[in-house]
Amino acid sequence: MRLHDTFTRSQVDLPPPPGPIGIYWCGPTVYQRIHVGNAYAVTVLPLWLKRWLGELGYETTLVVNITDINDKIYDAAPGASARLATDATRWYIEDTDRLGLGRPDVEPTAVATVPDQIEMIRELVERGFAYESDGDVYFRVAQFPEYGRLSGQRPDQVEEQEPNPRKEDPRDFALWKANKPDEDTWWESPWGKGRPGWHIECSVMSEKYLGPQFEIHGGGLDLVFPHHENEIAQSRALDRPFARIWMHNGMLRFAGEEMHKSSGNAVTLADALDRWGRETLLLFFLTGHWRKPLDYTDATLTAAAARAERIRDVFRRPSEQAAAGEWEAFADGLEDDFNTPRALAVMHEWRDHDLLRRALRVFGLDSLAEHAVAPDEVVALAEARLEARGRRDFGEADRLRDAITEAGWDVRDAAEGYELVPRR
Ligand SMILES: [Zn+2]
Repeated sequence: MRLHDTFTRSQVDLPPPPGPIGIYWCGPTVYQRIHVGNAYAVTVLPLWLKRWLGELGYETTLVVNITDINDKIYDAAPGASARLATDATRWYIEDTDRLGLGRPDVEPTAVATVPDQIEMIRELVERGFAYESDGDVYFRVAQFPEYGRLSGQRPDQVEEQEPNPRKEDPRDFALWKANKPDEDTWWESPWGKGRPGWHIECSVMSEKYLGPQFEIHGGGLDLVFPHHENEIAQSRALDRPFARIWMHNGMLRFAGEEMHKSSGNAVTLADALDRWGRETLLLFFLTGHWRKPLDYTDATLTAAAARAERIRDVFRRPSEQAAAGEWEAFADGLEDDFNTPRALAVMHEWRDHDLLRRALRVFGLDSLAEHAVAPDEVVALAEARLEARGRRDFGEADRLRDAITEAGWDVRDAAEGYELVPRR
């Protein structure tokens, strides 16, 4: 199994099973209903990867954090950020549960790990990698020569982050922020009342649950700089080897534009699920390679719905045993940088129910294999319609078709008379 690594810009092999494989994925900042693009980045991709590695015989631990201390939350609910973060955490769990992919092994929150974060900041100050300034604490980028390597920037030309006069150097970034009057949550620290900056929580939580060195760190492409660059600096400055492979997924595009949480064009996961259903949405995500942008449009979702229907159709017909080597063709696609479109193309050729069900299970899509049986009254309507057609009473046949539709089923003409398919 190999994966593309942002840090070395190359494909990197995983150790042989069973690993263990520690995976840390940057999770959501909780201040609103999660958007569909963000749900792919923080839930679908890491859980699929975990499920596939499990299929290969790996022991995995997946940690996806919940950022419940952040400027965005303070801005969204001035004076009431704690309440909003609690509510939005619940929405996030509710909405992503509907994807039916299970949950990460650990979902730590920033709030629950503040003491650990203070401890790591103290260590960075003690060793000269950070300094206090007016109740804030900043990381001293000049002390870490590797800075900029992940994002491909020269250390002396790194982009400035959150400009402010309290920094020694414009490249420095905040580890701790002194409490501001409109911020309703704060913690005591050696530098006074305040709260951690955003980046430190991930260095702390990954180490707490996966140890100082782990296999995979993931997140959206938008996190490469500054977030992940800063995580590397914090952890490696203190001699933690940290992540071995860096995975960054491409962004979902909405009508050709990148879907960022801040833009008005975003669709929530709940809306996407209400409109398309989880099977269509998951199949849509399968059609894209995780490193590339994916276009979320009516046309691409409609095409995904048709794919789902094609797969359901396979299970309405007799199983045909696959030739030897078919599973390997599917696995080859996923072992080659988790290429889901390639694996999906292989699956679409299959008529072997057992094989297809096993592959669908990796992606939480084995529900497509559930053979739907129409209730007796719908079967009776379909029988009556067949009879009406036999005596060429097409008016009555059409009336019966409408009644079947109203009951939630589609009737299709087939060689053996008719076929009843649940409407979705
Ligand atoms: Zn992070």
